[in-house]
Amino acid sequence: MHHFSPNTIFYTPDALNERGKDIIQQYNPVEVLQTPQHNRLPPLEIGHYKAKSDILVLGRLKTLQCKWSGRSADYIAPSFANGCFGACAYCYVDRHKPVNPITLFTNVEEILQTIDKHVQQLPWPKKPNQTDEVYYTYDIGCNSDVSVDATIADSIRLAIDFFRDHPKAKATFATKFVNPTLLALNPQRKTRIRFSLMPARISKLVDVRTDPIEQRIQAINDFYQAGYEVHVNFSPVIVYGGKQWRADYQELFLQLDQTLLPEVKAQMQSEVIFLTHNRSQHEANLEINPKAETLLWTPVLQEDKRSQMGGYNIRYERHLKSKMMEVFQQIHQETIPWCHIRYIF
Ligand code: SF4
Repeated sequence: MHHFSPNTIFYTPDALNERGKDIIQQYNPVEVLQTPQHNRLPPLEIGHYKAKSDILVLGRLKTLQCKWSGRSADYIAPSFANGCFGACAYCYVDRHKPVNPITLFTNVEEILQTIDKHVQQLPWPKKPNQTDEVYYTYDIGCNSDVSVDATIADSIRLAIDFFRDHPKAKATFATKFVNPTLLALNPQRKTRIRFSLMPARISKLVDVRTDPIEQRIQAINDFYQAGYEVHVNFSPVIVYGGKQWRADYQELFLQLDQTLLPEVKAQMQSEVIFLTHNRSQHEANLEINPKAETLLWTPVLQEDKRSQMGGYNIRYERHLKSKMMEVFQQIHQETIPWCHIRYIF
């Protein structure tokens, strides 16, 4: 895993609790600058990649809300962080800000209290659904990569402890990194990691600065043995090269089939999300990562979709997409029938 080592830390005064001060201390010497709002930094004269590797922002999360999801989890938990060291060309977290360094929220206890209060109001026992048979599930990694956040502060360790001890709630997060320090925690199957996978040759172009696919696959057995539930997240599925994408997915599935232990296969499920891209991100990427755009921007296969946030998103044309999903499910069923698909869209 790349080592995150910022040289500038912005902070809002209300982020400077003990945790905030410890984080600044841990990266010392760094330039430390106060900012009135964590999401309105002064203009930064540095590029996309440098902003992600050189800057850390400490803030206090004020909007403490759990939002209904029903897909990756029952609910999206309030974020422990926003932004990521990685620079995936399709990343939706990067779409809404001109520069997107990691912003870490230091009011972790308030976030955990919010989740507890939320789950305690829900009917119990929970009605089983595709996210979990028993527990209410909370996605704790929708706006960042939790494996990276865990290298910066104790927030993720505290979250994993919280969910382990909680009688009704379970955590889940997707990741594109392998952070071996997470293996030393004790989740007792109350945290589900979803390793994000796609064909390695494509990942090299679009999953910028994340850990290689081979490494993510090799880590799955270890995370299971350390007490995590481990699923896989086939996302985004990118269609390329005529039928080449089919052959590459088959190879990926075969690799999983050959690598995973029987007990890991027995608990594994997957989720499948076909690529959604975005017009303004496409334009930005033409400067930042034009090679990735040859895979992500294929107008002959795509159509516009107005997003809930008001942006112009692009997705595979609906009739083509239903054919693509059929093909994907067929290869999946033929190669890794033991891996139930929780949802696909
Ligand atoms: S690892 Fe996840 S959060 Fe980070 S840039 Fe890639 S898609 Fe975005």
